[in-house]
Amino acid sequence: MKKLNIRDLDLKGKRVLVRVDFNVPQDKKTGAIKDDARIAGALPTIRHIIDCGGRAVLMSHLGRPDGQPNPQFTLKPVAERLSQLLGKPVAFAPDCVGDAVKAMALGLKDGEALLLENLRFHAEEEKNEPGFAGQLAELGELYVNDAFGTAHRAHASTEGVTRHFKRNAAGFLMEKEIDYLSRVLESPAKPFVAILGGAKVSDKIAVIENLIPKADAILIGGAMAYTFLLAQGKPVGASLVEQDKLDLARSLLAKSATIRFLLPVDHVAAEKKEGEPDKKGKPTFSFVNARQVTDIPAGLAGVDIGPRTIVEYARAVAGARTVVWNGPMGIFETPEYARGTFEVAKAVAASGATSIVGGGDSASAVQQSGVADRISHISTGGGASLEFLEGKALPGVAALTDS
Ligand code: AMP
Repeated sequence: MKKLNIRDLDLKGKRVLVRVDFNVPQDKKTGAIKDDARIAGALPTIRHIIDCGGRAVLMSHLGRPDGQPNPQFTLKPVAERLSQLLGKPVAFAPDCVGDAVKAMALGLKDGEALLLENLRFHAEEEKNEPGFAGQLAELGELYVNDAFGTAHRAHASTEGVTRHFKRNAAGFLMEKEIDYLSRVLESPAKPFVAILGGAKVSDKIAVIENLIPKADAILIGGAMAYTFLLAQGKPVGASLVEQDKLDLARSLLAKSATIRFLLPVDHVAAEKKEGEPDKKGKPTFSFVNARQVTDIPAGLAGVDIGPRTIVEYARAVAGARTVVWNGPMGIFETPEYARGTFEVAKAVAASGATSIVGGGDSASAVQQSGVADRISHISTGGGASLEFLEGKALPGVAALTDS
């Protein structure tokens, strides 16, 4: 899949409206930016505009202000951090539409940048309201989307706005995401191994179905493995299971008969202890007295893949030339149950395969296990990368001009 790219545009003297993903994690109390990777990720595109003598008008959402202005979700600190990273001032607009904002955009000089206030201070953004999209479009003469993380949403800034421009281009970060992910679907170097984990089968069904005809092996971990094991009649004790997905798990197992579809052969299992309900009254659990088991006995819940499974999965990954990974192998937030996830991260890094890791948890696992620099591509979009792998057209990508 090839899309028109920002390098194909003549930017000199032009106002370039760029959808970036500045939805950075913030400290709940102080509002301080906890990780500026998303700002850094957009720098190549922003620098390119500045270096070419263009005028960057940047727009993003931050958090969930629910369509209302809310100072807790202002992008002002992001403008400050961006300015530090760029080494030049970045103007900040108090809103993302309206006459005053338009005057600021029109007042930009070549090589200058302006960041608009949070798009989601207006409910019209997520509703993809045409009038609002039109107002955004008035701020630029060219449109670039560099926000892969929101490309699976048809919002005013990702989809509606594109209807006002003759051509819509991908930024450098968006280009990299599309390149890696589309290569997986269109022409993966073989053997191609997919590793899927996480809490729920239901979130990954469409990915599994789409990858079965393309992959040589699919390795399953995390809680979703127990739904598959139960569907095969194996004991899963008190493990997290989606009872209503057992038939579906059986049908996926049948469909996967032509490839290696690996399920854990041993587990780390623990006793589930009920804790105090949380603030919203939801029950909470903790897991204690973990041990390694081949079959999970009644009363214990699987919390990680076991050592034999780690060896088997590492061996499957070692021979691969393409690896896609989404979802942890266990409750990796608890250090005692993180070994399976971290060992898989190391195996992926050591394989030398073209490796694509998607989803916040798996991305964090490769960071924590110190192998992030040996992963070919860590996707910035959890939901977006999953939908891409499902074979769905992402509205924000589909709206970009083909090249
Ligand atoms: P997902 O968002 O579907 O990728 O799921 C990620 C979550 O799945 C993480 O918070 C993990 O703690 C959780 N998870 C992984 N394995 C298990 C397991 N065996 N039991 C319960 N939760 C799990």
